[in-house]
Amino acid sequence: MIMNIEKIDELMQNMTLEEKVSLIHGNGLFKTGEIERLGIPALIMSDGPMGVRKEYLNDKWEDVGYSDDYVTYLPSNSALAATWNKELAYNSGYILGNEARGRGKDVILAPGINIMRSPLCGRNFEYMSEDPCLIKEMAVPFIKGVQENDVAACVKHFAVNNQETERMEVSVEIDERPLREIYLPGFEAAVKDADSYTIMSAYNKLRGEYCSHSDYLLREILHEQWGYNGVVISDWGAVHDTVEASTSRLDIEMNVTSNFNEYLMANPLIGAVREGKVEESVIDEKVKRILILMNKLNMFSETRKKGEYNTVDNRQGALEVARESIVLLKNEDFVLPLNENKLKTILVIGENANRVHANGGGSAEIKALYEITPLMGLKMKLGGNTQVKYIKGYSSEKDADNSALFEEAIKEAQQAEAVVFFGGLNHDQDTEGLDRDDLKLPYNQDELISKLLVVNRNTVISILSGSPVGMTSWIDNAKAVVHSSYAGVEGGLALAEIILGYVNPSGKLPVTFPMLLEDCPAHKLGEFAGKVTARHDEGLFVGYRYFDSYNVEPLFPFGHGLSYTEFAYDNLQIDCKENENNISIKVNFNIKNIGQCPGAEVAQLYVQDIETSVVRPNKELKSFQKVYLLPGEVKQVSLELNKESLAFYNDKEKQWKVESGEFNLIVGSSSRDKRLEKKFLVEGTY
Ligand code: BGC
Repeated sequence: MIMNIEKIDELMQNMTLEEKVSLIHGNGLFKTGEIERLGIPALIMSDGPMGVRKEYLNDKWEDVGYSDDYVTYLPSNSALAATWNKELAYNSGYILGNEARGRGKDVILAPGINIMRSPLCGRNFEYMSEDPCLIKEMAVPFIKGVQENDVAACVKHFAVNNQETERMEVSVEIDERPLREIYLPGFEAAVKDADSYTIMSAYNKLRGEYCSHSDYLLREILHEQWGYNGVVISDWGAVHDTVEASTSRLDIEMNVTSNFNEYLMANPLIGAVREGKVEESVIDEKVKRILILMNKLNMFSETRKKGEYNTVDNRQGALEVARESIVLLKNEDFVLPLNENKLKTILVIGENANRVHANGGGSAEIKALYEITPLMGLKMKLGGNTQVKYIKGYSSEKDADNSALFEEAIKEAQQAEAVVFFGGLNHDQDTEGLDRDDLKLPYNQDELISKLLVVNRNTVISILSGSPVGMTSWIDNAKAVVHSSYAGVEGGLALAEIILGYVNPSGKLPVTFPMLLEDCPAHKLGEFAGKVTARHDEGLFVGYRYFDSYNVEPLFPFGHGLSYTEFAYDNLQIDCKENENNISIKVNFNIKNIGQCPGAEVAQLYVQDIETSVVRPNKELKSFQKVYLLPGEVKQVSLELNKESLAFYNDKEKQWKVESGEFNLIVGSSSRDKRLEKKFLVEGTY
C-alpha cells in the first residue's frame, strides 16, 4: 500500500506519545523502534561508504558472526573522487544502494562529504576532496544512484567535521564566507539537487553549539534556506540535551549505547513533553517526516525494489571505478608501463603489496567478499610467464625493527630486472577517531624508498593512502610514481593493469599534495588540530585556493594526473549572455589525443574573478569533464556556467553576489597546468 499524506495523518492520530517517540530514537545500534500494531516498521540503517557493514548484535558492538554479511568492497570516496567521472559516481552509489537493499537496509550511512581541510585528518579516505565543486559533482549522482534502489542515502557529517581530534566536543570557529563557499555547498547540492532523503548531523560544535542541536545549521540553513524536508539523523552519540535536540530540526537520535529507552530523545523526551518543556507538535513533525521517508522508500508497498549483493555486475562496477581512480603522479623515461614481454622477473617489495584493507578504518570497515591485493593482481595478469618475487621490505607490526627487512630488500633490488614498491598508509593511519601526526610515511618507508632508488633508479613507487602523504625526501630521485586510494574488491587488479599497461591511467588528484606540512594553510597558522576550538582562520584558502593564491609550490597540485598518452587543447570559445536575473556562459574547446594509445583526460574549468571588491581565491574550479579519446581523435568539450559559478557569499548582505567586471576562464589539465584561457566581461550585478 502506498500511503498518502491523509493516511499518514490518520496513522499519527492513532499513535500514543510513547509510540511516536519510539520512532525518533535508536532501539538498536542501527535501527529505530517500530509500531507493530500499526504496521510501522523500524528504519534499518547500516554503514557505510565502502560497502554495507557487517551485522552487529542489536545491543552490543559484537559481530553476529554469520557468513551472510560479506559484501562487495567498493572504492573509498577518496578513490572515487580521483576518477572525476560522474557516471562512475552514479554507478558506485547505485551498487552501494543495491547491496544495502540486498542486505535489507533502509538507510545507508553514506556518502561522507566533509572537506579535506588537512592532509592529516584520519577520515579523509571517507571524504572526497578539498574542493566543493568536485564534491558536488560527484556526490549528487552518487546519492541518486543509492536512492534508485529504494534505499535512503545519509549524507554526512553536517557540518564542518574536518578533524577527528576531539571530534565529539571541538568547536569549529569559522567565518560565514568560508562556511558558505567551501564547507556547505556539497551538502546544499546533496539536499537540493540529489534530494538526499536523510542527512547526518555531525558530532562537533559549530561556533559553540553542537551541530546536532544547532538551530542555525539545522533549522535556519538546512530547513528554511534550503527547503530540506528529509530526515536528520544524529551521528552516533552526538545528542547532548533533550530539549535542545528535540526542538531543533533533528529527527532521529542514534547512539552507541544499548540503554535505548534512556536516550535523550526517548523517555527523557516523554518526560519533557509531560512537563510542558517540549510541545508534542515538535515530535509530530519528526514522525511525519519519518513516515514520509518510509513511504518514499516504498516500505509500505508490496512493490518495493529488491536489491542484490555480491553480484558479478557489482564487482565489475567496482573494478571500473578502481581503474579510473589510480593517479599516475610521475613517469620519466617511460618507466611505466612495465613491458611484461621483456621481463623474466619482477621484484615486488612492500607490505601493501600483500595486505588487505577492507576490514579497517572504523565505521567504514566491511567484510569484503574478497580483496585482490596488488601482488595477486600482478600475478593474475602475468600468468606465469614473468616470475614475481615478493619480499616484505618493511613491517607494520609494532616495534618491529625493519633493518633486516630493508637490507634484504636493497640486496634483492640491486640485482632485479624490475622493482615495484607498494607502500603508503593503511587503516592504522587512515582511520576514524585519529588524525595523523605528520606527513611522513610510517615504518620508515621514506628511508627504504630512498635506498631502493639508489640501487635501482627505475624502481616504480606505488603509494596507497586516503590522504596526501609526504614524498619530498625521495621524489626527485623517483622516475615513476603511482598513487591509489582504497580501491575496493578489485583494487589490486586495477593497479596491476595500470602498471603493466593494460589500462591507461586517468585519475586526477582530488586534493593537493603538499611538500611540507607547514605549507598547508591550517598548519601554517598552527590551527590543526585544535582541541577545544578548531579555528578555521585560513578562511577560503583551503587546498589549492591557498597554494595558488599565495604561490606556494605543492608537491603535486590539485587535479594533477598523467596518462600514457598526451592531450592537446585548443580553440577556446566563450559565449556569455546576461539576461534578467541570470548569466549563461557557454564554454567550448577541443581536446586531441596526440599520443599513441587510447586514453582519458579530465579537462578542468577554473574561474578567476579579476575585478572584485572582496578577497577571492586566485581561481576556483567550477566545472570539469572527462573525455575518452582514441589516438589522433579530437572531441569538442562543451561546458556551461551560470551566475552561481561566478558568485561569492556576501556576508554583510547575507546573500550570494556577482559583481560586474572582468573574469578569466582557465582550462587546465590540473589546477597548475593551464592549457587555455580567455577573459570575459560581466556587465550587470546579480
Ligand atoms: C561515525 C558515523 C557512522 C556512525 C555509525 C560514527 O562514529 O562518525 O560516520 O555512520 O558512527 O557507525
